[in-house]
Amino acid sequence: MKPNIAIDGPAGAGKSTVARLAAEKLGLVYIDTGAMYRALTWKALQQNLPFEETALARLARTTRIRFANDEGVQKVFCDDTDVTEQIREPLVTKWVSVLSSFAPVRRELTNLQRKAAASGGVVMDGRDIGTAVLPDASFKFFLTASLEERSRRRYREMVNKGTQISLAEIEADIAARDQADRNRKVAPLVQAEDAIVIDTTDLSVEQVVDLIVAKYSQEVE
Ligand code: C5P
Repeated sequence: MKPNIAIDGPAGAGKSTVARLAAEKLGLVYIDTGAMYRALTWKALQQNLPFEETALARLARTTRIRFANDEGVQKVFCDDTDVTEQIREPLVTKWVSVLSSFAPVRRELTNLQRKAAASGGVVMDGRDIGTAVLPDASFKFFLTASLEERSRRRYREMVNKGTQISLAEIEADIAARDQADRNRKVAPLVQAEDAIVIDTTDLSVEQVVDLIVAKYSQEVE
């Protein structure tokens, strides 16, 4: 069985880009757990559900979330709807930390994530992968970067997609989301004791991917 890689860190630290590329290079499967929380948030907003525990727990139990590979591009499906683009909208981003704070919602998604990693060979990124979802993962990385740098990266990404948003708004959103993710009662964003910390502020995506790939390749085979 191939070992799993857990990658955690705050919003905008480059986790998903790095995780996707590292998975590609190592021939592993990439799983974006943030996309799962986002897909549920998208559906809750669509259905005008109240953001409270009972309604969201039921939603988590009855929704099917899956990933599909479309000519090399990873798509996210919520039930049968392709929500790959919609889950990145600012309204989803605004509400996702509220949904992800509820224990029964986390339980459902954590179970799904563990199943996905059960046969090994996954690179999974999120907030609680090394601490709660896969505490026994062979490789754990915690990616950080300054708030300013993380905000600039997210800003460039959004502007390239044509979203109208200011750098100040992004910075406020990221800071609020980090604060909520770090302070929630269940599976908060925290560095696992045995995680390797990579400060990506002054590193390129390629440099971070190379660090992860080198560490994995050194120890596997
Ligand atoms: O990674 P991304 O920024 O897309 O995650 C969106 C949100 O989903 C996070 O801010 C957090 O509230 C939640 N999340 C989580 N646990 C994970 C992954 C994401 O609580 N493993």
